[in-house]
Amino acid sequence: MSPHSKIHLSSDKSLLDSVSMILSAVAKSSWDKLLKTNVRDDWEIDSFTVNAYYNAQMNKIVIPAGILQKPFYSSDYSFEKNLARIGFLIAHEISHAFDIDGILFDEFGNRICRESEEDTVYFESLVNRIVSKYAIQGIEKYNIDNWQTLSENIADLAGFACVEKIMLEKSSGNWEDFYSSFASLWRTKQRPEYQEMSILSDTHLPNKLRVNSLLSNSKTFIEFYNLSEKDEMYLDFEEHIQLF
Ligand SMILES: [Zn+2]
Repeated sequence: MSPHSKIHLSSDKSLLDSVSMILSAVAKSSWDKLLKTNVRDDWEIDSFTVNAYYNAQMNKIVIPAGILQKPFYSSDYSFEKNLARIGFLIAHEISHAFDIDGILFDEFGNRICRESEEDTVYFESLVNRIVSKYAIQGIEKYNIDNWQTLSENIADLAGFACVEKIMLEKSSGNWEDFYSSFASLWRTKQRPEYQEMSILSDTHLPNKLRVNSLLSNSKTFIEFYNLSEKDEMYLDFEEHIQLF
């Protein structure tokens, strides 16, 4: 249950009193959790929040009702559109279990050492390839911090590979619908100041780069649109990062 659900705000109270009441309820909720043995079912965000996340210490994903609506999901949407949007987001959250932080925890959320030397070597070489791939990107005058965005880039690459695999297994899938639904979800318009702040602080790539780097990394996308070296979205297959 959200700590906020027990708060009764009223216009009779001052802003200071209201904020104080909210902070007290949140603090009490945190203290109460210390005395509980099982908090795996608790959500750290409200059900109406338009967001989703993975919690490595609980090994759980949370997809609140708030995000299960347009433009992420709708029963009116085609299978491809829902797959490219909410399907990708769910696959992205699950994939966080295997990013540079998630890999440090087992299925119960306990901190572990990686299984074997071989796994460690493989994972580190993969991470270095992903860091190098994203190192060459920038948007307008800004360079992207490829370490700051690493976990999200891993989750993006793995999540997108999952939903593409589902499309490949569905022999009659509409690829045009799938790719255009994915790309159009992330359209955005930002003031330069906001864009600069996001690039400096956000662990996600700017949306345009997020979409372009995933699509140009897709062999199926390049073949479907018949891209060649002269197209900006073309990336040589040898430079692609294939997670599975
Ligand atoms: Zn993420």
